Amino acid sequence: MSEFVFSPKPIRIESGDGTMLQDESGTEYLDMGASYACTPLGHSHPAVVNALSSQAEQLTYVQGSYPVQVREDLYDLVTDLAPEPIDHAWLSNSGTEANEAAIKFARHATGRSKIIAMKDGFHGRTLGSLAATWKPTYRDGFEPLADGFEFITFDDEAELRDAVDEETAAVILEPIQGEGGINPASDSFLEAAREATESVDAALIFDEIQTGVGRTGTMWATEQTPVTPDILTAAKGIANGLPLGATMVREWIAEDAGNHGSTFSGGPAIAAAGKATLETVTGDSLPAHAGTLGSTFKQKLQAAVGDSVKAVRGEGLMIGVQVKRGANRVVGNLAMNHGILALPAGRTVVRFLPPLIIGADEIERTVDAMSEVIDEV
Ligand SMILES: *Cc1c(COP(=O)(O)O)cnc(C)c1O
Repeated sequence: MSEFVFSPKPIRIESGDGTMLQDESGTEYLDMGASYACTPLGHSHPAVVNALSSQAEQLTYVQGSYPVQVREDLYDLVTDLAPEPIDHAWLSNSGTEANEAAIKFARHATGRSKIIAMKDGFHGRTLGSLAATWKPTYRDGFEPLADGFEFITFDDEAELRDAVDEETAAVILEPIQGEGGINPASDSFLEAAREATESVDAALIFDEIQTGVGRTGTMWATEQTPVTPDILTAAKGIANGLPLGATMVREWIAEDAGNHGSTFSGGPAIAAAGKATLETVTGDSLPAHAGTLGSTFKQKLQAAVGDSVKAVRGEGLMIGVQVKRGANRVVGNLAMNHGILALPAGRTVVRFLPPLIIGADEIERTVDAMSEVIDEV
């Protein structure tokens, strides 16, 4: 095996259908993590399978300088779905690249280099996005990372106001921190970030790679906050598991974004998958479904395990349960004894990011399993 960077899990997945995954022995698992929110439509959704396979047969890839209808359609769709007044987009192949582009565009458009990022924030693993990522576990041994990054305490308005100055190119943050443990930012913090960046003509970047594509109850989490950033990044669920990233920007950034590019940007096969995903997410009103079902899920979790855990947090179908100890043990126990796949976020948070197509029965099953598991560990 050449897998030296991942620690493989003991379950060998062979196929998927909707909210279920099946291993080689035929055992079924309820997928409550959607492989880090990457499959909002569930596994092998027919809209995506059909779009991808027919596009792959017609034209899998051609260089970006030749106009291709499906790539243009996806660009139109992404810019239409971007929160106003954001009306330009750049497509890439992953979350970290979407953030690299955001950082580059902000630096070029402002002519400055300083980027303010958040403690406990996660933005990816390439050297630029990694420089905006807080945890030493991700950074150690890879220095020097990109220069010019400073960290402040997430949700601390005073620290934010102190940090932003005339040298600041951008403030980057997740409206709800994902890897950091499902920590939502307060509206007043986001307003402070908006005011502070605006007052010095710096860019506000929202990394919606985990919160985006309907997960929190609206297409983008920013729609539920009083502010709109200058740059919004998306990836993970945007093509239902195919590699696609998007960096959406306001006019003033697009006008002076500098020279950037990527060979695979919006390649036809991936673009077809992205288009089918976004059309299905909006056509089936999945953001609203995520909002309704998510609040039920949160209330039921609160009622079932609220007294035995430290907190139940999150919005829509992005929910974290902060346990007293051993999130990994809870996740392992859910998988092995209940056939439910969840995700840890750090050492104490059990994270649920299910496909947005999930139903009430599956929520019920997960809550029942959680109350058993929390009692056991
Ligand atoms: C996963 C994630 C990234 C990185 O995305 P990759 O596709 O793994 O590069 C960046 N930001 C957030 C908030 C994420 O959840």
